[in-house]
Amino acid sequence: MADRSVGALLVGGGAAGAACAEALHAGGFDGGIMLVGREPDPPYERPPASKGYLAGAQRRDDCLFHDAAWYASRSIELAPRTSVMRLDTEARTATLSTKEVVEFGVALVATGSNVRRLRIEGGQLDGIHYLRALANSDAIRADAEQAEHVVLAGGSYIACEVAATLTTLGRRCTMVMLEDAPLSAHFGPTAGRFFGDLLRTHGVELVCADGLERIEGDGRVERVVTASGRELAADMVVMGTGVIPDVMLARSAGLELGESGGIACAADLETSARGVWAAGDVCEYDSVLHGGRVRIEHHEVALAQGRAAAAAMLGTRRPYSELPYFWSDLSDWCTAEWVGITEAPEREIVRGSLADGAFSVLHLAGGRLVAALSVERGDDLAHARRLIAARADLTGREDELAAGDLEAL
Ligand SMILES: Cc1cc2nc3c(=O)[nH]c(=O)nc-3n(C[C@H](O)[C@H](O)[C@H](O)COP(=O)(O)OP(=O)(O)OC[C@H]3O[C@@H](n4cnc5c(N)ncnc54)[C@H](O)[C@@H]3O)c2cc1C
Repeated sequence: MADRSVGALLVGGGAAGAACAEALHAGGFDGGIMLVGREPDPPYERPPASKGYLAGAQRRDDCLFHDAAWYASRSIELAPRTSVMRLDTEARTATLSTKEVVEFGVALVATGSNVRRLRIEGGQLDGIHYLRALANSDAIRADAEQAEHVVLAGGSYIACEVAATLTTLGRRCTMVMLEDAPLSAHFGPTAGRFFGDLLRTHGVELVCADGLERIEGDGRVERVVTASGRELAADMVVMGTGVIPDVMLARSAGLELGESGGIACAADLETSARGVWAAGDVCEYDSVLHGGRVRIEHHEVALAQGRAAAAAMLGTRRPYSELPYFWSDLSDWCTAEWVGITEAPEREIVRGSLADGAFSVLHLAGGRLVAALSVERGDDLAHARRLIAARADLTGREDELAAGDLEAL
């Protein structure tokens, strides 16, 4: 027997859950809305945790989507520090960590991701950090105050952003990555060379095409040894080794899972259980844009999918087809923006000048534009969005793409 009943139960107080709650309210959802999240804060934006919040330029409140009073005044019931322990999609009930059993009409599973922990010798020493929540950012900042040398594991945006932020705070940062260049796995080799040069120019040491073999120290980290045998002094280590979708609840609820480990969803983000949607990092949906199942771990995608799930709950069911957008800030040195449908281009075309720090890299596959990265060339990004979405055939138009007016294409 349920203790109580709500119209919409939203599991996970991150970007997707918050966006869904807000859109349900704005759309006049008829029935109570309950947003259950494990963390102590109301839903907040994670991107500042490696950028402005880590740097001390943004306060905790600045990161919140809304404060608790905002939700209360809209009759959205916020349940922080609370986990959904069990979801019964047949009985349409959820059991909370408070032991309360809540009956629901529709539900959203937006349980996000957990960090991927590296299992290496010395991986349990003090001074090793992972970054997902504001509390992790607090711990990194506090440790960095005593540290001179910081080693960052990984070549993706988390390691790059933290290295840039801590370098700006006066720390000596060394990045160790498997890739040949930072951010190259996501943005391609040309952009990777640009970001490598940028980081080095600001004093970040890069150890590329190498991995962490072990971490040494007496209780606390003192040095990192790489696979090639390099020894790097380290007062602390920050791991940027990726994330894994959190499908613990979805799996125990019997929801169908997808190949990339997310929750398998139809084009309108509904899961294998009727009236239960997924959104954000956990959502592996059938994308009309990509022509198959994809799962995307971007802030803006989590927001847009949360809103799309709300629209479906309100009765407007349509395939989710927004073009993925991602950005990354390296301190105040540079902002990179990316739109696209693939991270594995056949060919790259550069517009503008890498040396001047104002350029775009257009990614082509099968004669079509499939992605674009821009630094200081926002107009290119806007045109790229249009050309990608239109699936325009650009065969033989490489010169125009490189130096012509994109508006004319
Ligand atoms: C440091 C950092 C910087 C980032 N920077 C960028 C950036 O610059 N650009 C960009 O596009 N993306 C960035 N991202 C990625 C972006 O933040 C994520 O894609 C986004 O947060 C995903 O939102 P979500 O709602 O799917 O999941 P999450 O934000 O992970 O939220 C899920 C929430 O659900 C909770 N939860 C899980 N299980 C349960 C349960 N059973 N019961 C209750 N609650 C539960 C979790 O504790 C968590 O609070 C960054 C991420 C991090 C960590």
